[in-house]
Amino acid sequence: MTVTVRFAPSPTGFLHIGNARPALMNWLFALREGGRFVLRYDDTDRERSTAEFAQAIGEDLAWLGIHPHESFRQSDRIAQYDAAAERLRAAGLLYPCYETAEELERRRGRARALGRPPVYDRAALKLSDEDRAALEAEGRKPHWRFLLPNHDGDPFVTRRAECSWSDLCRGEQTIDLASLSDPVLIRADGTYLYTLPSIVDDIASGITHVIRGEDHVANTAVQLAIFKALEATPPVFAHHNLLTTVSGEGLSKRKGALSLRSLREAGFEPMAVASLAVLSGTSHSIEPAETMAALADMVSLADVSRSAAKFNPDDLRPLNARLVHRLPFDAVADRLQALGVAGGAAFWEAVRENCETVGDAARWWRAVSDPQPMAVEPEDADYLARAAELLPPDPWDDTTWGTWTGALKAETGRKGKSLFLPLRKALTGEAHGPDMKALLPLIGRRNSAARLS
Ligand code: GLU
Repeated sequence: MTVTVRFAPSPTGFLHIGNARPALMNWLFALREGGRFVLRYDDTDRERSTAEFAQAIGEDLAWLGIHPHESFRQSDRIAQYDAAAERLRAAGLLYPCYETAEELERRRGRARALGRPPVYDRAALKLSDEDRAALEAEGRKPHWRFLLPNHDGDPFVTRRAECSWSDLCRGEQTIDLASLSDPVLIRADGTYLYTLPSIVDDIASGITHVIRGEDHVANTAVQLAIFKALEATPPVFAHHNLLTTVSGEGLSKRKGALSLRSLREAGFEPMAVASLAVLSGTSHSIEPAETMAALADMVSLADVSRSAAKFNPDDLRPLNARLVHRLPFDAVADRLQALGVAGGAAFWEAVRENCETVGDAARWWRAVSDPQPMAVEPEDADYLARAAELLPPDPWDDTTWGTWTGALKAETGRKGKSLFLPLRKALTGEAHGPDMKALLPLIGRRNSAARLS
């Protein structure tokens, strides 16, 4: 069976670094296993889901380097969910309930006060046909719960019912189904909660591995019971830790600054974002991987830690810089052109080690190409005027800096910082930056002369 994974976002917002983690965990697993990756839009919540967000998710994944083999929307598959619900109903495993949210909350409160777990008591199973008819005549619409297999025939006498699976991140897991409420699968307005559509689609797509955040661990026990009720072989599960802020809070989708969109706009490299989103909270140190294949080789699901994956956005800049320092010209040529940066490979290779993002090259390009003189310190004026006179004749190459500063040193007796720094400042406007040997021929004789005067 071909390894098949899926990433199943709800298109209710932009993808966030926290959602990038499950997307990448799935993508890297598929890469390692030679498998397929399905993108499923969990858009059964019609009010909050939009086609624009779905499109943005596809674009953001592509930017990150994730290219699904297939994608579909749950809203196109309601008939399949209806058929599955009907099957469960026919088997007596899906039953109508009429409690309002307030009634349920009151009951939970009472159970807690008595020191009992706030588990749904299945009161709706006691309703007669007349009771139901009367409730519906009042205008109440049922929501539908799945009857968990935690009893031996009498649903009011539950027993310990261990549901176990071998989790690729967390190892052996066991949840007692008697500790859970029968899950609501269909809301009173007839719409589906995530649980049943997800199972129906996992079966239809031939999903072999469900890789998702550990906030879904309790769902897994319920879902395994439903897979069984539908007589399907369940997939293998893996629940990875979630990214949190450094102080341990969850990263919500609403933290706009950490959306993939804003990280892209801030000029971060997708592989820097991917490396940090994946390697945080694993047994590996955080290194920038240059390609998805390299990242896939670095880490496996078993390397995910059990504690939270603390994500520090401040780590992104240095990580990005390390990648940018190694990027070949070919990888950035289009972006440099879009930034109005000329100068070709020679320029890029001269400045890349001084760039934290590719966009920083624009600043160095201005420093190289702008004919405006830089601000010159008054105490350096005489020295710089003499330097201008000693500029070697064209053509310039990477020996010119040495020839020129050698001549200046011999003539003025200056050395070290006092020899080099005023020149760098006058020529680039900065006290630090790329190797002047490479930069000087790019600035050229005319601009250099203009800036030294
Ligand atoms: N739409 C669900 C979520 O975003 C998918 C969970 C799953 O992977 O099963 O949490």
